[in-house]
Amino acid sequence: MFVDEALIAVKAGDGGNGCVAFRREKFVPHGGPSGGDGGRGGSVILRSSERRNTLVHFRFRPEHKASPGRHGEGSNKTGKSGEDLVLEVPAGTVVHDADRGEKLFDFEAADQEFVAARGGDGGRGNARFASSTNQAPRRWEPGIAGEERSLKLELKLLADVGLIGFPNAGKSTLISRISAAHPKIADYPFTTLQPNLGVVAMDEFDSFMVADIPGLIEGAHLGHGLGTRFLRHIERTRLLVHLIDMSDFRQSDPLDDYRVIMEELASFSGALPQKPMVVAASKIDVLQDSARADRLEQFCRREGLPFFRISAVTGEGVEKLKYYLGSRVREARESAVGAK
Ligand code: GDP
Ligand code: MG
Repeated sequence: MFVDEALIAVKAGDGGNGCVAFRREKFVPHGGPSGGDGGRGGSVILRSSERRNTLVHFRFRPEHKASPGRHGEGSNKTGKSGEDLVLEVPAGTVVHDADRGEKLFDFEAADQEFVAARGGDGGRGNARFASSTNQAPRRWEPGIAGEERSLKLELKLLADVGLIGFPNAGKSTLISRISAAHPKIADYPFTTLQPNLGVVAMDEFDSFMVADIPGLIEGAHLGHGLGTRFLRHIERTRLLVHLIDMSDFRQSDPLDDYRVIMEELASFSGALPQKPMVVAASKIDVLQDSARADRLEQFCRREGLPFFRISAVTGEGVEKLKYYLGSRVREARESAVGAK
């Protein structure tokens, strides 16, 4: 199951208490203080891992505690520290403080760590309070409580290219043709209830990631259909491919299809329509009247949008689109490196 949101509570371990103890020695009334310090509580750490690609493992386990530090003991023994608790999240996870809303961390790659709740320090034992004027201190400190927090985890997929378009436009068929992903494909809308990620191999050394998100429909931002909750997964892509269904029975104006989807994007976030975009006239194999595709092509030329005719079923135009996308992704990566 693909889960891209989770609310969790994390609690770090409390520090152990300091100890009050005295060495027992003959003829020495108090023998000198020997109470050790409490151990430090364990921290709760989030770590991004390639092994994870959803947040589903948090669904039925919302609470996570690290172990406390042990109390200090006599003979100046420091209590054992609590163990850190490491929780794995997929790369692309954004962490927010659930109570205050503030963003705490953004896992932009695998193998990053974020200390979500710091373990409490142990308290000092009485041995630490000895001084020339007080050689038999009874003073000790309690351990500090471990931090506690409610976190909202939100997964935003890290893909280079996002496929957008109406339900049934052919997105899943295209991704299964160009990548190793095998999404569900069916002849009715909304078969894609979860985003699919596919790796597209250009050659031995070069590949890019494509995300196919569930179809958008008019008014999705008002909560119709699947809503816009999946749109967040294309927020971080470098490039969008807008698929427009050319099959004749749709009888729709392709320019209308284009605009409806653009309005959906804009209603979700002003930045989405600004993303570099490529238009693909899809299902070109079942297009009888090429005037509709020509009209779309002219429109794209006026708007400066790259335009492709493709059929994910016969394969027409697909390789050309794939290599074009690969080169655009490479350019975008290079300029992102240059900008740093
Ligand atoms: P999505 O909702 O955008 O993911 O659309 P799908 O990939 O699930 O495709 C919807 C329907 O259109 C399925 O029945 C596909 O077989 C069909 N389809 C997809 N691409 C093509 C194409 O290039 N040509 C034809 N004739 N049918 C296609
Ligand atoms: Mg689909």
